[in-house]
Amino acid sequence: MTGHISVKPRNGASALAARWPLLAQRRPLIAYLCGMVALHAVLLAVFAVSTPFRWGDVFTFTALTVCGAVCIEATRRLGMPAGIARDMLSAWWLPTAFLLPPLYALLAPIPLQILLQKRVRETVLYRRVGSVAAIGLAGGTASMVFHLGVPDPAELTAGGVMAILLAVGGAVLFTVLNTSLIAVAAFMSEPDTRLRDVLWDRESALLDVVELCLGVLVAIACGINLALLVLALPPVVLLQRSLLHAQLQAAARTDPKTGLLNAAAWQREADTEIVRARRTGSALAVLIVDIDHFKRVNDRHGHLVGDQVLAGVAATLRSQLREYDVIGRFGGEEFVVLLPHTEVREARLIAERLRVRVGMMAIPADDVMISVTISAGVALMSLHGDDLIELLAAADLALYRAKELGRDQVCLPLTSAPPPPASAAEAESP
Ligand code: GH3
Ligand code: MG
Ligand code: MG
Repeated sequence: MTGHISVKPRNGASALAARWPLLAQRRPLIAYLCGMVALHAVLLAVFAVSTPFRWGDVFTFTALTVCGAVCIEATRRLGMPAGIARDMLSAWWLPTAFLLPPLYALLAPIPLQILLQKRVRETVLYRRVGSVAAIGLAGGTASMVFHLGVPDPAELTAGGVMAILLAVGGAVLFTVLNTSLIAVAAFMSEPDTRLRDVLWDRESALLDVVELCLGVLVAIACGINLALLVLALPPVVLLQRSLLHAQLQAAARTDPKTGLLNAAAWQREADTEIVRARRTGSALAVLIVDIDHFKRVNDRHGHLVGDQVLAGVAATLRSQLREYDVIGRFGGEEFVVLLPHTEVREARLIAERLRVRVGMMAIPADDVMISVTISAGVALMSLHGDDLIELLAAADLALYRAKELGRDQVCLPLTSAPPPPASAAEAESP
């Protein structure tokens, strides 16, 4: 399922807000989180009063919670990536929702999120509480809907087609609700976050399907015999481990401010591409892109706005490149791009296109729109260097030239026969 709500404090947090980070958030977000938590609390109270007490239910609930706790403990040492993280805990939350009255689905996230907070990653409290409410509300609703169609959970265990279909429907409902509740909070926190990238990419959808299958299968197994949880636990733990491992690996490769590859990861990928180009004899170009007078943006509007501009430039550059081009943040306000299968003329055109597109960008901040320009240095394999170090050195010299010539332009290293310039009109067409 989707992990805790990730939000950043607003500029100018007061001392009070430093102790209560929720207060530093935007008003709509505070209202939204409070509303979600209040609704969760009300539903908990209503169901606590109306749900008949059965020792069997408590036993099943405890067993599923213990499985979730074992999962968390077994992957604790791996750590958890910051921001919106994914885990496999709905393998335990979905059976709780289907086999037990809705009260237990509302309760289920409380002990496990406390465990996550205490043992895995201590995050600001309101995020955890928000996550508890989101999972509780999603699980509670899925449970209510499922029980409306299947009053006796034994039908699921007996393999009734209708019951299984309703369980699948309930699992879809759980995922959609949980994801949406988190997405709305993330959007309110940072309206310009590209949520599709975080929550609805292909990888996430695949994970959702895996979780859905697991949840329904564990629910059926657990309904047949609670002892079958012992057989379900190892594969779920293994999946949870590999999922976390993949997320941590991705986080270690990524620059958090821009979402691009960080310098080390870019260099590794670039080296691989260069070896391939040399083997196949294909062309290859390297660009170094630097934002012009970026210090002025920071000085005038502050570092937080500077960071937004940085992220905006990164997104524009990425959107103008081909799937197989390798782009990374080299450091500060410098980006590096490796263009496989690219001859000198095309490399210039691409660099010009990046320059034109970044120049057209306007990022809203403090009631004004901020625009920046970039300068770029281009170096070609064979022509300007034979390995990554030589190519980067050549591109850097070219970038220096572009700065010297007045910025907002693309330059190649000086060679005896400079290639023909590409016009801005040509550059406009992708
Ligand atoms: P030039 O056109 O010559 O490149 O001028 P410049 O101001 O862009 O270059 P300079 O190297 O003088 O300044 C780079 C600035 O980039 C200074 C530094 O504060 C800022 N910077 C570097 N990394 C970050 C970052 O992560 N966030 C923000 N907001 N600013 C950054
Ligand atoms: Mg600069
Ligand atoms: Mg620089």
